[in-house]
Amino acid sequence: MTDKMSSPALVVDTKAHILQGARNLTVHQVPLEPFSPMHVQVRIRSVGLSSSDLIYFETHTHNGRPLKAPMIIGKEATGEITALGVMAARTWPHLQVGSRIAIEPSIPCRICHECASGKYNVCVNMRSAANAAREPYVHGFLREYVNWPGEMVHPLPTNIPFDLATLGEPLARVIHAAGRASLQPSTSVAVLGSGLLALLTCAYAKSLGCYPICIIDTDKIRMDVALAQDWASHTYTVPPPPANTSSANIFIARKAVAHTILRERQMISGYETVFETTGSETGTQLAIFLAKRAGKIALMNGTDRFSHYVPLGEAIIREIDLISCHGYSAGEFPKALSFLASGSLGDLASLLTQKVPFAKAEDGFHWLSRNRDAQNKPVIRVIVGPADM
Ligand SMILES: [Zn+2]
Repeated sequence: MTDKMSSPALVVDTKAHILQGARNLTVHQVPLEPFSPMHVQVRIRSVGLSSSDLIYFETHTHNGRPLKAPMIIGKEATGEITALGVMAARTWPHLQVGSRIAIEPSIPCRICHECASGKYNVCVNMRSAANAAREPYVHGFLREYVNWPGEMVHPLPTNIPFDLATLGEPLARVIHAAGRASLQPSTSVAVLGSGLLALLTCAYAKSLGCYPICIIDTDKIRMDVALAQDWASHTYTVPPPPANTSSANIFIARKAVAHTILRERQMISGYETVFETTGSETGTQLAIFLAKRAGKIALMNGTDRFSHYVPLGEAIIREIDLISCHGYSAGEFPKALSFLASGSLGDLASLLTQKVPFAKAEDGFHWLSRNRDAQNKPVIRVIVGPADM
């Protein structure tokens, strides 16, 4: 035993998927980050591919700027602890070699005003795995091993498989957004989008007793999952705008679509809470037109552009709360794991639609990009399995 660790078998390098450029993902053996006394070493067992991973994979950019260095992507991961730093072992005695854990991918500074107030999701010094917002980049988890702060790993309840527990991260975002919107039972809810975040939002709103819940997007097949699982009471398939339509005309078309949705769903006065999960301009526009007077809109996703054409006047005259939601904060990640263990959200395993071995991770990104896999099956969640598969 060394003075830095409380257990043997410390690994010093790892096999990892390195993103070198757009759609250029290659496996290399690379050194691990330095192992600190406050670290645990984790053998990665399961990684869920996220929409932000997909953007990096497809474009090799962050907010339109090219990445400046190779990066390991993958930010929603679970694994088992293989070693603990000596301070980590003393500070978090519930963590042991062999503990099954989920990794919280952000590392807040714990000293800024925001961290001190419990809102570490808006930490001014936040560093996050597989996120190129700050340099040097913190590598993500598409690899065999990682050294990570013991503070940011959470033991898994015994009944949660590694793959299912990768939903802890997006579910924590849903819990945070619902909290920001003060979501209450019996609230009427509209959810924009049909990806993993949207479906989890429907499931969570349903578990709280919200009704009706209408999921709205362009992908009917994925929305039908929400119906089949009884997470949503209604769906609405938004038609794509005609090609070469100007932004102003798309805006007018979206207003008409929103009015059609409200009329057909007999919700003429609008939905009390709208969750916008797409980060798109049209999603934000629809959300404002769908919200009830004095209603709330939870904006859950980073925008796909720096500025949106948003009908702000519509929001102001109807006193709609536009609530920005970023990540999650103290206690919300473990709360998400507890919800997963409780089974109260229904059959969330049905969201894990594809699994690929580590060596085939690139296939997973191609499927995610097309929203369909090689058998044309809809893609909701692609899991990349352990490196030794
Ligand atoms: Zn901070």
